[in-house]
Amino acid sequence: MIHRLSFAHLPTPIEELPRLSRLLGGPRLFVKRDDQTGLAFGGNKTRKLEYLLAEAQSLGADHVITAGAVQSNHCRQTAAAAARFGLKCTLILFGDPPPRPEANLWLDHLFGATIRWTERARRDQILQQTFDELQQQGEKPYLVPYGGSSPTGVLGYVFAMQEFLNQGLEADAIVFASSSGGTQAGLVLGARLFGYQGRVIGISVDEPRPNLQKRVAELANQAAERLGEKVHIRPEEIEVEDAWATAGYGVLTEAESEAIRLFARQEGLLLDPVYTGRAAAGLLALIRKGVFTSEQTVLFWHTGGTPALFASRYAESLIHS
Ligand SMILES: *Cc1c(COP(=O)(O)O)cnc(C)c1O
Repeated sequence: MIHRLSFAHLPTPIEELPRLSRLLGGPRLFVKRDDQTGLAFGGNKTRKLEYLLAEAQSLGADHVITAGAVQSNHCRQTAAAAARFGLKCTLILFGDPPPRPEANLWLDHLFGATIRWTERARRDQILQQTFDELQQQGEKPYLVPYGGSSPTGVLGYVFAMQEFLNQGLEADAIVFASSSGGTQAGLVLGARLFGYQGRVIGISVDEPRPNLQKRVAELANQAAERLGEKVHIRPEEIEVEDAWATAGYGVLTEAESEAIRLFARQEGLLLDPVYTGRAAAGLLALIRKGVFTSEQTVLFWHTGGTPALFASRYAESLIHS
C-alpha cells in the first residue's frame, strides 16, 4: 500500500534559459524548478517527504529522525514537513557546530527541531541510538534515511518523471546533482515506467561513479518492487559523471563559483553552493566538451538548496571572486 501526502507545489515550472544557451552556443537549455516545490524554500526532498511522512503517519509515528551535514537541505525540509504535520523532529547533524546558526541550520532551529551533533563516521550509529532511546521513552519514532533515499522516498522522483513527461518538453538529456541517489533512482525508474528515451545524467556531488551507480540501481530496483513492477536496472545503465566529486562535499571551487555567477548573471537564477552549483559546473563542462549538439535540448533539473547561499563561508567567497 502506498500512501502519499500532498503538500508540494506541483507541477514545478519549466523555464527556458535563452541567454545562457546563446552565450554557450547551444544546446537549448531549460530548467525544471524543483527549487520551487513550495515547502520552506523548496528543494528535491519535498517530493520524497510526501511519501516518507505519509508512511510515518500510516505507521502511527509521532517523531521523525534524520541525519545530514550542517547545511543539510534535507534536514531543513524534513524539519519543516514535521512541523506542518505536527510531528516532533530530531536531526543528527555531523560536522562542527558553527559559532552561530546560519542559513539551513538557523531554519532547523526555527522549525523547532531537536539537534544532536556527531562526527560523520558515527552518524548511522547515533541515528540508531536516538531511535532506540525515543522508543524506550514511549515515543513512536520514524527513521527518515540519509537524504530521504529509501525506496519509499524514491517514489517522489518516479512520479516527478511522469509529471515532467506530461509537461511535454522533448529533452534529449536531463542533468542534475546526485548524492544519496534517491533522485536519480526515481528519475531512472520513472523513465523506464513512463517511457522517457533521453539520457538521465547525474553529476555526482561526493561519490565515485561505481558506488553511486550501484546505490542508484539498488534503490531503483527496490522502488520498482514497492510499486509491484517487474523492472531490473543494472548499475552500468546509470549515467554518472564524477569528475567534480573529487573536490569533496561542500567544497566550493572555482568551477562551482563560475557556474553560480553565470546562472545568476545570465538568467537571474539562483543555484546553491553544494549541489546545484556543482551540477551546473558539470553541465557547463559537458557542453564545452561538445557532448551535446547545438540543436539538442537539455533540461537542468534544479534540486534546490539555495538557502545555503546565505551561509557565510559560501556567501563571502561568492562575491569576492
Ligand atoms: C539532497 C540534494 C541533492 C541530491 O539528491 P539525492 O536524492 O540525495 O541524490 C541535490 N540537490 C540538493 C539541493 C539537495 O539538497
